[in-house]
Amino acid sequence: MHQKLLSLLKSHGHLPRGRGRVTGVIALALSVLCLLAALAFHYPSWLTTPELRARYDVDTLRQIMLIAMVAAAVLATWNSILGRSRWLAAWSVAALVATWLLGGSDIRVDDIDAGAPYLGLDWLILGLLGTATVFITIEKLIPFRTQPVFRESWQLDLAYFAVNHLLIGLSLLASNHALVALGLDVREPNWVMALPLWAAILLAVLVADLCQYWVHRALHQVPWLWRVHAIHHSVETMDWLAGSRLHVIETLIVRLSVLIPLYACGFSTQAIDGYIVIVGFHAVFNHANVSVNIGWLRYVIVTPNFHHWHHGSERAAIDRNYAAHFAFLDYLFGTAVRSERAWPDQYGVVGETVPRGFWGQLLYPLRSRARTGEKQR
Ligand SMILES: [Zn+2]
Ligand SMILES: [Zn+2]
Repeated sequence: MHQKLLSLLKSHGHLPRGRGRVTGVIALALSVLCLLAALAFHYPSWLTTPELRARYDVDTLRQIMLIAMVAAAVLATWNSILGRSRWLAAWSVAALVATWLLGGSDIRVDDIDAGAPYLGLDWLILGLLGTATVFITIEKLIPFRTQPVFRESWQLDLAYFAVNHLLIGLSLLASNHALVALGLDVREPNWVMALPLWAAILLAVLVADLCQYWVHRALHQVPWLWRVHAIHHSVETMDWLAGSRLHVIETLIVRLSVLIPLYACGFSTQAIDGYIVIVGFHAVFNHANVSVNIGWLRYVIVTPNFHHWHHGSERAAIDRNYAAHFAFLDYLFGTAVRSERAWPDQYGVVGETVPRGFWGQLLYPLRSRARTGEKQR
């Protein structure tokens, strides 16, 4: 019967080839989110963030989950009837069945052990939904290049988004422990603590970028550190998700070398939280496929154009534009890109072959130079 419907629709030109991928991905995303929500209901102390947990209304979450399950089921069924993106539909149905077996939207909430160590799965999901919504919208409104949302290697960068997002909590915890161990925790009141919040946040971003600038230069110049950082430079299509491609060692090195000095200077938790929100937005924005014109301010603030040049694979772009927030640091230290052209043509690593998969990239800095065939930069 559905074959008939299919040929009828095809003959009327309602079903161009290749359609159904977007609805297929939406159905899969919704059903995976439902499955993750069901797991979070079962293991709240392990999978949810205590600060966020206090704000949830369980009944509203159940209703949202039910709507998402129905929407995913309708889209997956629709696509399989039309014979489009069938493997996506099959995975969506598998995730929905698993959610249903766990209890569906009626699932009871298991007991919460407030002191248990946790993996902020809810923080990751909210972060992903928020970031994707904001940046896909910006990229559609003011794009630099015409390119699809689901471009080459998006799955790899999504995996990095998840891993690195979950590492933020660990970095904060590790830097607090390191601070105490190093005897750098500030106990006496100082002038940084007396600053109004907006000034403290601005100064925190400047201090963080100064630290980050020199660490970034070391990542380019110290051979072993370069092999860690080469993973980030292996990106060949720039967009909001591309900046997530960071080796876990790099995430920890950069976060710790920024957070420890910030805590040691005596910045308040609110000022550091403000900095974390700004770095979260700015780091994603710098890689985004957008073109913004802020006039002379581009010599002060890092724009996507400035950071796209950092990723450029042509000679003028190599080891240039290290700053993450304040472009003037590169002009001050003599490392700003000078080029006749407005944007680089191509991105990526020159002179060596970085593996394309997550595990290959994870092991890349640990493998010997000879085996990876690295040439001298
Ligand atoms: Zn770099
Ligand atoms: Zn980058």
